[in-house]
Amino acid sequence: MRAMVLEQFGAPLKLKDVPVPKIGPSEALVRVRVCGAGLTVVIMVATPGRIKSYPRIPGHEVAGEVVEAGSEVRTVKVGQRVTNHYYLTCGNCRYCRSGRETLCENFRGNVGQGCDGGYAEYVALPERNLVPIPDGVTDLEASVAADAIATPYHACHAEAQVSPGDNVLIIGAGGGVGIHMVQMARLCGGRVLAAEIGEEKLELAREMGADEVIDTRRGDLVKQVKALTGGRGVDAAIDVVGNSRTLQASLESLAPAGRMVIIGSKPASVYGEDPTFKVNPGEFMRQAQEIHGSRYVNNAEIARTLELVKHKRIRAVVNRTFPLEEAEQVHELLRKNAVAGRAALIVS
Ligand SMILES: [Zn+2]
Repeated sequence: MRAMVLEQFGAPLKLKDVPVPKIGPSEALVRVRVCGAGLTVVIMVATPGRIKSYPRIPGHEVAGEVVEAGSEVRTVKVGQRVTNHYYLTCGNCRYCRSGRETLCENFRGNVGQGCDGGYAEYVALPERNLVPIPDGVTDLEASVAADAIATPYHACHAEAQVSPGDNVLIIGAGGGVGIHMVQMARLCGGRVLAAEIGEEKLELAREMGADEVIDTRRGDLVKQVKALTGGRGVDAAIDVVGNSRTLQASLESLAPAGRMVIIGSKPASVYGEDPTFKVNPGEFMRQAQEIHGSRYVNNAEIARTLELVKHKRIRAVVNRTFPLEEAEQVHELLRKNAVAGRAALIVS
């Protein structure tokens, strides 16, 4: 089969002909139709030590159909369309059993990092990771829903707890996750303040429902937020960028009882810059504020996200698609922050 293979750390992805993977009894073989590509996969391959053995096929936002099922597989059938949860978990620990599988105590890494992923014509995935795609949702929409829309579902609902009438700041609102965060925060009843750099992304955020857009190059972000909220600040600040400046601005933009949600991360090992920020504990306590780390989703949240897409409550924003063999060029665009909305590889 054709696959984009990473042969060693730091190498470019190369198109190769490799054997179709063999499945275990609790796995299914999926013919990949579409695989999403965002900053998560770019950071995954660029962080030293994340991938433990090479060669490796990246890609974690798969949509396709089951072509073979292991002897123990019960919940999906050959011919069924599926997307996937991208954490390799045990299903048995205290976190897995409480619907918080992203905190699994026996975590084996991610699809495309701990095992081969979806930048290939076929991928072998554990049954536990598969989520059926409902009729009415295309493969392209599903590949985006599994991460770039599901992640905002969890962040807005479980962490930021966006309620009708809340002012919600989204930093990095024009990227793959951010543009769906704008829609999700609106769907939860929030008034969305979308912060971005560059006219194309700001325009896209506006088009997708942002009530206000803030160009972070045009003056201090916190001042602009305060001006747009009558001096009070926002009830929730969701930071999809995650560098020290944006995180500091998120915290300083909060109203009393505001929730800050960290969802992006710019690891120092990849970006060469310390992402830490400062909290004044007295002020934080007096304002009764909260800082939440939002880590992906559980399987049920992916299923709910797919329903939202099916019923047109959220639109999957895929502005650019590429053939499989252009994966390296897509990563280059993502590294340059040059993709508005989500990008996806059309595999077969
Ligand atoms: Zn577990």
